[in-house]
Amino acid sequence: MIRFDDVVKRFGDHTVLDDLSFTVDRGEKVTLIGPSGSGKTTILRLLMTLETVTDGVIWVNGRPLSHQYRGDRLVPAKEKHLREVRKSIGMVFQQFNLFPNMNVLQNITEAPIHVLGQSRDEAVARARTLLEMVGLSDRETAHPTQLSGGQQQRVAIARCLAMSPSVMLLDEVTSALDPELVDGVLSVLRDIASSTDITMLIVTHEMRFAREVSDRVMMFDAGRIAEAGPPQQIFEDPAHERTREFLKAVL
Ligand code: ATP
Repeated sequence: MIRFDDVVKRFGDHTVLDDLSFTVDRGEKVTLIGPSGSGKTTILRLLMTLETVTDGVIWVNGRPLSHQYRGDRLVPAKEKHLREVRKSIGMVFQQFNLFPNMNVLQNITEAPIHVLGQSRDEAVARARTLLEMVGLSDRETAHPTQLSGGQQQRVAIARCLAMSPSVMLLDEVTSALDPELVDGVLSVLRDIASSTDITMLIVTHEMRFAREVSDRVMMFDAGRIAEAGPPQQIFEDPAHERTREFLKAVL
């Protein structure tokens, strides 16, 4: 479970997240939409602990990611808890970020072996199951440069799943792809969304995909939630003028 409690994020005097509070339940698939600069990626980066909050508290599976007040005492997050949280969250980026010097199988097995302590055999067996799932069983010895963008992104998804995350963060994972490669990646993500209880936070400009996979859509504007609701409501009957304008521009 993820909870943002009155989260503020500033870069210098630019307030990117403005007193933001929301909860995402275990297993829920939530899509974040909204104009460029509205703070969507910052939310994912805070969850990955790649950034820290300016104020407020973020909770993941009951653990705080940052300092919090107990009474009037400021208590820092425990490093042990942060490590636990980092292990339970996986992120897939727009630019794939595969290890360029490793082949597909090594990319997927590296963290399970070195971070989770799995045996090589165990990690390889799991990687092969995942490669089958993303349709790349025949490419396990290929290096990233020998793969298309869509194939690289499917390896990145398999690599993320190999860590058995309870939370998966997807940051515009099809934005860098040629249009004909987008569907293959979205179809893999659709399968994951419908067949696992992984909590998914998805930043995407693919509105049809957002509509199909989301339990809930949150529309952001200037670091705040303009409105949130089931996809049918947001896409067919948006209550907020900003949502109507945004959807008119992207649909
Ligand atoms: P996009 O759809 O373009 O990715 P977004 O909604 O994901 O937009 P963010 O990437 O979260 O928006 O950025 C929100 C704002 O924060 C932007 O104005 C951005 O320039 C600013 N910002 C993000 N990271 C930093 C940083 N490290 N230093 C300074 N400003 C930053």
